[in-house]
Amino acid sequence: MHQNDVATGHRQAVLQAVDHGFEEAVAFLRQLIRTPSVNPWFGDKPDVTGEGRVQRVFRERLEGLGAEVDEWEPSAEALAHHEGEPGYFADRDFTGRPNVVGRIPGTDPAAPALMFLGHCDVVAVGKGWTVEPFAGLRKDGNVYGRGAADMKGGMAAALGAIAAVREAGIALRGDVLFASVTEEETGGMGTLALIDRGYRPTAGVIIPEPTNLNVAPLCRGIIWGEITIPGRAGHIEITQPAWQEGGAVDAIAYGKRLLAAIDETNARWRELPEKNHKYMAAPCQINVAEVHAGTYPSTYAHDFTIRFDIQYLPAELDEKGGGGRVREQVEQLVRDFSTGDAWLAEHPVEVTWLVDADCGETQDQEPIVTSTYRNARELGLPTRIEGVPSHTDMGLPIKAGIPTVTFGPGSLSIAHQPDEFVGEDELREAMKVMALTVLDLCGVA
Ligand SMILES: [Zn+2]
Repeated sequence: MHQNDVATGHRQAVLQAVDHGFEEAVAFLRQLIRTPSVNPWFGDKPDVTGEGRVQRVFRERLEGLGAEVDEWEPSAEALAHHEGEPGYFADRDFTGRPNVVGRIPGTDPAAPALMFLGHCDVVAVGKGWTVEPFAGLRKDGNVYGRGAADMKGGMAAALGAIAAVREAGIALRGDVLFASVTEEETGGMGTLALIDRGYRPTAGVIIPEPTNLNVAPLCRGIIWGEITIPGRAGHIEITQPAWQEGGAVDAIAYGKRLLAAIDETNARWRELPEKNHKYMAAPCQINVAEVHAGTYPSTYAHDFTIRFDIQYLPAELDEKGGGGRVREQVEQLVRDFSTGDAWLAEHPVEVTWLVDADCGETQDQEPIVTSTYRNARELGLPTRIEGVPSHTDMGLPIKAGIPTVTFGPGSLSIAHQPDEFVGEDELREAMKVMALTVLDLCGVA
């Protein structure tokens, strides 16, 4: 469907309604920030932890917009048939952490429905704030606070867009849905529960994560892993006997070789087509983020451990929809590293996988991509089509056959940081793009 199918008068009316309702959207965003919803996994202070409070705020807002609301607590037990798939974690408890979905019915039950899908959890507060993280401070054209960019700003914009369509008095053919899920920041099980419940908005899903108003039809998968090389502690100043005779083994010496092997692998990956994508500025790499070894200066390190982050693209998805093939590449690297070494043959290097968050890609020609992009450009925004370098919840709806884009106000580079903020101008532009895209994809009755 082309946006020009929607009459200019309707488009003008909805843009005016965005301007008219903008202060209300900012006020709602500040209310969301003032309602802390740190994901319990982070173990932050109890008074800022848990998503239940903010879900009540979303529910009230949706009911105020005339939505039918579906609210339920996901359950690891009920989702156990997803064991081994991205987004499933057997140990997660959703007590007091419901998903909330609002549906505003269109005039034609058979018409395609559009869904905005956001996560209501935020990461831990952390250190270094110069403003109150949960005050919703409004200053110099920005709104500050934990979750301002990731992603309460985007969710406030989406609800503002829905409100503007209503305010403009425009009846839509298809349903508009707004989903606020829990548990994204630590794996995506809230979205898994949403898809499992049967939601299939065929016009598409917009995830309003911060993209600086760029349209992202692609997000990368993320794998976290840990490698430990065993050594044997011993006095560092003496000449050690061979390890077979009980001598020390310097785990750091092995560690340096492992890091060099990872560098070589990264250099090779940079040239591989499956590690690159036209919508990604950088290739997929193994990024070592933590190194742990040693106890005190006069002793050889007893072991050497690294933790790393790997990105991957849809071209390398395995049959379960995860990064199994990429994990196997790392396991092969470790086997090659260990081959021919007598110590490692008896004391194997250990590889542990911590996280595998999937990726997804929607084809360029899907209306959810073309409409969002064209609406942004026609508003004069410098919007580009580019991938999200990190993980978003895109993969799960895409796997269920729903075309999905990530598009939202704010910057991913300020997410998860102190003094997180979203710009009011971006918020307003996001609302306009979203409102116009609702008209395009749901159709005016
Ligand atoms: Zn996010």
